[in-house]
Amino acid sequence: MKTGVSYFHTRDPEHAGRDLDDMLDHGCNFVVHCFSELDMAFYNQAMEKIIRMTKDRDMEVYIDPWGLGGIFSGEAFSRFISMHLDTRQIDSEEVSMPAACPNHPKFREFQKKWINLVSDMGADVCFWDEPHFYTNFRDRNSWGKKWSCRCNICKRLYQEKFKSEMPIELTEEVQLFRQQSVLDFLEDICKESKRLKMRNCVCVLPDEGGKLSLAAGTNKWDDIVRIPTVDIFGTDPYWILFKREIDDYVRSACRRVIDLCDQHKKEAQAWALAFLIPDGREEEVGQAIDIIYETGIKNIAAWGYKACHFIDITCHNPEKVWDIIGKAFNKVRDLDQRN
Ligand SMILES: [Zn+2]
Repeated sequence: MKTGVSYFHTRDPEHAGRDLDDMLDHGCNFVVHCFSELDMAFYNQAMEKIIRMTKDRDMEVYIDPWGLGGIFSGEAFSRFISMHLDTRQIDSEEVSMPAACPNHPKFREFQKKWINLVSDMGADVCFWDEPHFYTNFRDRNSWGKKWSCRCNICKRLYQEKFKSEMPIELTEEVQLFRQQSVLDFLEDICKESKRLKMRNCVCVLPDEGGKLSLAAGTNKWDDIVRIPTVDIFGTDPYWILFKREIDDYVRSACRRVIDLCDQHKKEAQAWALAFLIPDGREEEVGQAIDIIYETGIKNIAAWGYKACHFIDITCHNPEKVWDIIGKAFNKVRDLDQRN
């Protein structure tokens, strides 16, 4: 049974040591360390120490390219896209978007540099968090209307594949092209991390087949799970963010993950929401962890440590949420050991 949290709270190893001990007390046996472009530029030594300290405590190290190139999710900004303007995605209205194109060789080279760095630091698993074509998550009305990417590289690749000019409309062919681009990108980077003896975990946005996954280009989960170098596959059914009823929403997303993972002999993972929890709904986080466990998923994570207690996406009562997570993690681990 694996239980873990994401961690991005400090680069001070002394402080991180106390937090790692606190995670152990709260039933964690893995940590998803966020390693952003800022870390690549200034915190390599500190992160190497923090990763070593995590492993010294017998916790597994997942590492997350937090917001890298604007292609992965996370609260970190990308410097790469401001230094390499030619790599940015171009949307269907010819506007340059704040994200690198996953088809751009320069970005792929940068991503591989990141993989080599985290491998040298001793990471066990690369956690590819919500890879997506640029999507304005805050503007639901834009999903599926404006889309990326129509950069010159994408246009050329589309022409080669479909023997016609890339349209401005989000046609079925364009959707297929976008999905295949995300797949090709994932295959390329997962191959590199595998070469360096790390495992790969892919987490996709929820609502397979819905507007959001369509906007992201991760509409068909099956194609991602079947990538030979993908070891762990999951999703993050954040019921409060999507205004959905917890039981049905979390359970059906987890069942879909389990079915696909069983089919392709992969490990299943699911995330419990532990940020932006309003007052009075704290117990739902424990309920989500229970539901995930009940569906048979044995790799459960929560975003993030201490219910993100000091970032603006925190919960109304982070201490209470963190306490509930600790109890729920310890409970499912006990249950699992007994079964
Ligand atoms: Zn492009």
